[in-house]
Amino acid sequence: MRKLLFTLLLLLSASVYTIKPQTVQRPKLVVGIIVDQMRYEYLYRFYPYFGERGFKRLMSEGSNFTYAHYNYVPTQTAPGHASVSTGSTPFFHGIISNAWYDRTTKKGRTSVEDDSASTVGGNNDEGKKSPRMLLATTMTDQLKLASIGPSKVISVSIKDRAAILPGGHLADGAFWYDETNGNFITSSYYMKTLPDWVDKFNRKKLADKLLSKDWVLAKPEEAYKNNGADNSPFEHDVFKEGKTNFPHSFAKLKGEDFYGALPNTPYGNEMVKELACEAITNERLGKDDVTDFLAISFSSPDYVGHAYGIYSYEIQDIYIRLDEQIADLLKTLDEKVGKGNYLLFLTADHAAEETPGFLKSVNMPVGALNQARALDSLKGFCKNAFNANEVIEDFSNNQIFLNRKVIQNNSLNYHTVLQKLTDYLYNTFPQIQNIQTRDDLLGQTATREPKDFVLNGFNSVRSGDIAITLLPGYLPSNMSKGTTHGTSYAYDTHVPMLFYGWHVPAQENNSPVYIVDIAATICNLLHITEPSCCIGVPLIR
Ligand code: ZN
Ligand code: ZN
Repeated sequence: MRKLLFTLLLLLSASVYTIKPQTVQRPKLVVGIIVDQMRYEYLYRFYPYFGERGFKRLMSEGSNFTYAHYNYVPTQTAPGHASVSTGSTPFFHGIISNAWYDRTTKKGRTSVEDDSASTVGGNNDEGKKSPRMLLATTMTDQLKLASIGPSKVISVSIKDRAAILPGGHLADGAFWYDETNGNFITSSYYMKTLPDWVDKFNRKKLADKLLSKDWVLAKPEEAYKNNGADNSPFEHDVFKEGKTNFPHSFAKLKGEDFYGALPNTPYGNEMVKELACEAITNERLGKDDVTDFLAISFSSPDYVGHAYGIYSYEIQDIYIRLDEQIADLLKTLDEKVGKGNYLLFLTADHAAEETPGFLKSVNMPVGALNQARALDSLKGFCKNAFNANEVIEDFSNNQIFLNRKVIQNNSLNYHTVLQKLTDYLYNTFPQIQNIQTRDDLLGQTATREPKDFVLNGFNSVRSGDIAITLLPGYLPSNMSKGTTHGTSYAYDTHVPMLFYGWHVPAQENNSPVYIVDIAATICNLLHITEPSCCIGVPLIR
């Protein structure tokens, strides 16, 4: 009997021992990839030309959410990167646009400019940047806070905002490309001097080496034929070649034009991929038990989309090459961190409209509300209706900013002014689909499902007084070449959303999901608190 009791006690103590709290399992590294201007359908349109180790590997071995959308306007780079990283929208995180009118200074400003910062790695103002305008925490901030420090966060991109915003407030380093000299730089917000490995990278003069080669097609020309003509009339002559077809040469470009050309080529992505691989090695990312985070934003597809549009040999070629660059990155991650030890997501900061010039040529409904002309018209109306000048301070990003002091000094009623301007706009400009005023929007809150794209993008402190939504296909100016983005329509909001690696099952899911779900999903897999204003939900259970 005593023997039995002893055995039972032994078993019990053994089971107590086994349920003792264990170290929480986490991936060694999170890799967040944002492609600048990637339409969801590119995964499929270019699928026949992809290799097996890039996008296809992520699609077949990871979780592919095929119906992922943005849930606010404007669908631009800075808000896109901020929203992916915070799991939130401009309503909360405050990055309402790439650049906006600042009521306090009465001047325009960009999302990341910061006069209190200085350039590290250069002698110009290209590094006077920081994430100080970002009002919410990011998933990288939460990772740093959860580890109380030792998690390492590194962020790289061609664009300043695309490196800074995903890095959050606590990044160990965010590095972006200086178009004036071909180097990667950072800001005094992060550090006093460039790390040796970035300095060494710059000394290799990779931009010069890459730009010494012509940009030629990666595949036989036959593969590109379904885009229409290579020298289509809907393309800009970005490289001052007197033509828009392949091959593209940069030989005649000088100085800033030379280095400024790089983001418009696949070499921009190549530079970022190479720098990211250097970061993995030199920062020893994913080498210890504390989870690190590497944020990578590939900007060049956006430059190429703006210049050549979505039906171009150039856009197809940059995606064929991005596929190879992603394959290289995955190979480095497998070797340095280990397959299965890293958790990766890939998405885009926005998509893009079908090339507007082409749409017009085939009689699709496209057009523009020219903001400069509309502003003149509105000013004339204000003079007549209110007998007051300068009621309107600014008209940008489809938003009108009113001068509240002028309204007050002229004893006008703010709400009446809003209403009269709204009526005038509806009656004057048939390009307008919807108008919402500050009166309509205040008191409501942003939601995960896009009940109201304008509300989700509206920040009560920074946004304007009247928000205009144009008809689908309509832009703030006529566009005969290239394409753009920024609206709440599907062509701008539908993006890829892929998760891959640590604890991610192979699956394809077509439930409606939103960009804000990425941060919720990553933080949930890491068992850390999601960012402060996250309105997304975890998608991988
Ligand atoms: Zn962008
Ligand atoms: Zn863009």
